[in-house]
Amino acid sequence: MRTRAAVATAPQTDLEIREVELDAPRSDELQVKVVASGICHTDAIIRDQWYPVPLPTVLGHEGAGIVEAVGADVEGFAVGDKVVLGPAYCGRCEQCLDGHPMFCVNFYDRNFGGGRADGSKSFSDDSGEISSHFFGQSSFAEHTNVVASGAVKVPDDAPLDLLGPLGCGIMTGSGAVLNVLQPQPGSSVAVFGTGAVGMSGMLAAKAAGATTIIMVDIVPERLEFAKELGATHTVNSKETDPIEAIKEITGGGVEYALDTTGVPPVFAQMTKSLATRGHGALVGAAKLGTEAPFDIGTLLLSGIKISMVVEGDAVPQEFIPRLIALHAAGTFPFDKLTKSYAFEDINQAFADSANGTTLKPIIVF
Ligand code: NAD
Ligand code: ZN
Repeated sequence: MRTRAAVATAPQTDLEIREVELDAPRSDELQVKVVASGICHTDAIIRDQWYPVPLPTVLGHEGAGIVEAVGADVEGFAVGDKVVLGPAYCGRCEQCLDGHPMFCVNFYDRNFGGGRADGSKSFSDDSGEISSHFFGQSSFAEHTNVVASGAVKVPDDAPLDLLGPLGCGIMTGSGAVLNVLQPQPGSSVAVFGTGAVGMSGMLAAKAAGATTIIMVDIVPERLEFAKELGATHTVNSKETDPIEAIKEITGGGVEYALDTTGVPPVFAQMTKSLATRGHGALVGAAKLGTEAPFDIGTLLLSGIKISMVVEGDAVPQEFIPRLIALHAAGTFPFDKLTKSYAFEDINQAFADSANGTTLKPIIVF
């Protein structure tokens, strides 16, 4: 079928909205009419080729939409179902079977491989094939073929124009907190970076009952907004040493911390801000080969634990409905992070995300 898609063609270059051909969904796929798609920082770094997803490609990995066709081998979905799209995973490797599909041993190939496992791509136009199946979905298209295992069925009354970011950015921050750090009620949490991922981590920490929530960033407006949304303390690390500030606020060190920046000195700040036997998690992405300093001399005695977390270590089919329930109950107001854009304005939405004016842009088709 013919559809329209935003095609990434070169690093640091605007996406091109083009008419493209979409092939038929395979037996393990759903064809989805995309209603809306969030934009994540990861879309921008793949457009810019931090990881070598073959260009041209259709990016987008926070899609939400309506099922239009169901592959012959797919169970549990029907035409007309509303779905939120999460990453693809194989469902058969030891990590998937152990309940950690975001660490699927085939995760990279399934999500960053540029097409299906057999090498075919869903999209093409006069200039040739266009990479597809980004995060199993390539949701910057009005219609797309998605790997059914990554789709999450949501209730008929679910607001699809809002829910797409639950498939990545929101799930990443909140999952790192709720699934990995698991802060106790009454505990202290520090989050480095107040983008959509960091703010989601903050909202999750609040929902979990943390009572000291410290947000660290270098953009004053974002810190101000973090305070409005529930941070108990903010630290501008351009002006104040965040390690000293966190130690002072917490009386010695924070129990849980999250680095959403992927900036090496910030990772070091996080490790040094932790209390004895504290637990820190890294979710921020960095270019392949990026190393961060870790003071093994001092930190050995601290007994701290550091986790590297992909997609909140969630099982999306279980976790996303819980986030929807928390949102409906008013304890996880992630809608306050979002702003809608028309498809035609997708490059403006990327620019607003990069310059910090919008936390979580959502393209509504
Ligand atoms: P974002 O760019 O909106 O937010 C990053 C924040 O970090 C910004 O507010 C920025 O001001 C702040 N920051 C930058 N340098 C800093 C410094 N030196 N000190 C303090 N703060 C600093 O991005 P986002 O959408 O929130 O995503 C955060 C990161 O998570 C990105 O790297 C993204 O690629 C990554 N990500 C990872 C996963 C995963 O599965 N691990 C999933 C989604 C996104
Ligand atoms: Zn993402």
